Amino acid sequence: MTDAARLERRIHELAQIGRTDDPAREIYATAVSRLGLSAEEQRARDLVTSWCAPHGATARRDPAANLYLRFPGADPHAPVVLVGSHLDSVPMGGRFDGALGVCCAVEAVVSLVESGARFARPVEVVGWADEEGARFGYGLFGSAAAFGRLRVDPERVRDKGGTSIAEALRALGESGDLAGAMRDPKGIRAYLELHIEQGPRLERAGAPLGVVSDIVGIFHGLVMVRGEQNHAGATVMGERHDALVAASHMIIALERIASSVPDAVATVGEITVKPGAKNVIPGECTFSLDIRAPKQESIDLVLERFKAEANEIFRKSLREWGLRPLQSVAVTPLDEDLRDLLWKSAMSVGMNAPTLVSGAGHDAQNPSLAGVPTGMIFVRSTGGSHTPTEFAATADAALGAKALEIAIRELATA
Ligand SMILES: [Zn+2]
Repeated sequence: MTDAARLERRIHELAQIGRTDDPAREIYATAVSRLGLSAEEQRARDLVTSWCAPHGATARRDPAANLYLRFPGADPHAPVVLVGSHLDSVPMGGRFDGALGVCCAVEAVVSLVESGARFARPVEVVGWADEEGARFGYGLFGSAAAFGRLRVDPERVRDKGGTSIAEALRALGESGDLAGAMRDPKGIRAYLELHIEQGPRLERAGAPLGVVSDIVGIFHGLVMVRGEQNHAGATVMGERHDALVAASHMIIALERIASSVPDAVATVGEITVKPGAKNVIPGECTFSLDIRAPKQESIDLVLERFKAEANEIFRKSLREWGLRPLQSVAVTPLDEDLRDLLWKSAMSVGMNAPTLVSGAGHDAQNPSLAGVPTGMIFVRSTGGSHTPTEFAATADAALGAKALEIAIRELATA
């Protein structure tokens, strides 16, 4: 049986690793900074291992620093049931994003073992490494490595301190040869992930649990605009080629365009201005693009309209502009049978779980796009996400763990 008190204790225990509370600011009372491929993330892996080892699990860390805890099944060669989430956080993040999925996976599997369930196939709890990409700018790192979807050179990509991904892995004792992290998708019967919703829909629906149907596609890009650097006092208003003003028009256009395409969202979260002095008209401006939608056509439509408007703005006042694509993640439909199974599992704990599209990216995308049947369950959360205020009630988390337990029982003991 799912033990809600034990689950709560473990969520708390995990939140102590990378805890960065600032007593002067109440909002940071529960802050966690556990960046991907850091010593803190490694400590989290050690802690999760200590929860599972006494119940017969064998721990393995792969060259991408993913943690697998394997509970044996009658047929050791049968495709495994994989269940988990990620162990890293954003800087000054919360206690639940990723961590809750690992804690609930452990609770579900350990409860099954304790109840004397006999697995026909191995069950593995996974703690993915560096999902957030907060340190190296490349998200879903560990799961991408596991499913052959890594599009990054680990020797070349560096954090702000100059450490490369490969160096960070070597500091954790890994060889840095990421090919060794690859898993055969055929060796996995199903991948299940529980995650906080990170949005308000379950809260508004008064539902503790939701089942994910699709994960949105994401386009990340960088826009560069070049105008003309000049004197802030001596250049009359009609003769300026101000890169920042042009960029501002583009950003406002993007907001309008995304608002006009159903279910699309677009964000500019980073901007740099050159040379960056208060008495100099900006000559150059670079800003990020994050465009998401549950349909690829919608992402393409936002991009197309944005380019058309940017061209107009360019013609009026700029010398040059360009858009560099950085990373694209395909729209990921999740497995329909697992969707049904998770919905029924939620029903078994008395919850009619609404079906949701995930607006956030998740590790689940990588196994799914590699052909592994994949299902996701969302737990109601409040207080935003990627912030110390994010919150999932223990009662809701325990319902999620219980539903997960029922689904794993169905998949692993049949
Ligand atoms: Zn997450």
